[in-house]
Amino acid sequence: MKKHLKVKAFLGLILIFSLVNILLARSLLAQDNIIANGLTENLPANLSSEDKLNLSCLMESYPDIWGVQEDIQGIWLIFKNGERVLYSQNSNNIYENSLNTSPLSVDVKRSMEQPYVLEPERPETPEGYAPGRKRSYALFSALYGKTKAQVQANLRPVRILGGHWSFVPQAAEAFKEASLAIMTKLAQDRSLKSWLKGNGSFCWRKIAGESVLSVHSFGIAFDIGVGHGATYWRWCKKRPHPLQKTYPSAIVASFEEAGFIWGGKWHEYDLMHFEYRPELICKAKRLRRQSYEPLPMNQGQESKASGRYVWPKRQGFFSD
Ligand SMILES: [Zn+2]
Repeated sequence: MKKHLKVKAFLGLILIFSLVNILLARSLLAQDNIIANGLTENLPANLSSEDKLNLSCLMESYPDIWGVQEDIQGIWLIFKNGERVLYSQNSNNIYENSLNTSPLSVDVKRSMEQPYVLEPERPETPEGYAPGRKRSYALFSALYGKTKAQVQANLRPVRILGGHWSFVPQAAEAFKEASLAIMTKLAQDRSLKSWLKGNGSFCWRKIAGESVLSVHSFGIAFDIGVGHGATYWRWCKKRPHPLQKTYPSAIVASFEEAGFIWGGKWHEYDLMHFEYRPELICKAKRLRRQSYEPLPMNQGQESKASGRYVWPKRQGFFSD
């Protein structure tokens, strides 16, 4: 009899343990859903359609960003670990603007201000036109590391396209994806191969002639094509440079498709330079589509129940 009671008690314990586990799993899943839906709090009612497009592309490109919040200083991107990065600064901000150390260091909104144009288009590059060259260093630091040692600890070696490269994991995956597309194109056009000779990826250094860090410091950039005369605006007097129009589109298009922008589309051209900026590629794709199909006005809405701002589902209007 005693033995029978012991078995019952044991089975009861197993049942309670299983129930607790199921409840825990459900609560974690609910949390994940909130993150996936990208709920945002305390947003101004008059958020512009450009802000909505930018924020949606940022959250799609960088899953570590789970929300957006506004305070007296401006609008902030909130990371899963609680870190905050300034998206846009309020114009009536009473705080000192600490970003003005270099005209190339800006908040996230200004880093996305000039629309990048995808292949096969090669836009004119008048003075002042360099989409992606102004950057938010706070965003890169939050995503990839704040010091050389922190970035280095994240680096992954990539051996592909006949070269040895070092990238942070997100850029490494995108680089591999582009490389596969390029290998298919190489089978049809062997002349592309010599353009792919590498001239470096990760390197903790400043931009030549500038006071800010190069994006090579964050493990998201690489240089190729020097043997074909791919050069940097400070080393060459030509404005514009003929390669800005003639550089092989098959290579640029493959890297753009995987999330990289090309420095050949800047007034201050850097013809050898590609960098991982998926938020700019996302915005470029959506703007290109809008030019054929105008945006409806009802993107996202304020939830009456929670008072929170809810993004449209990723599979909805904004998805590519
Ligand atoms: Zn470079």
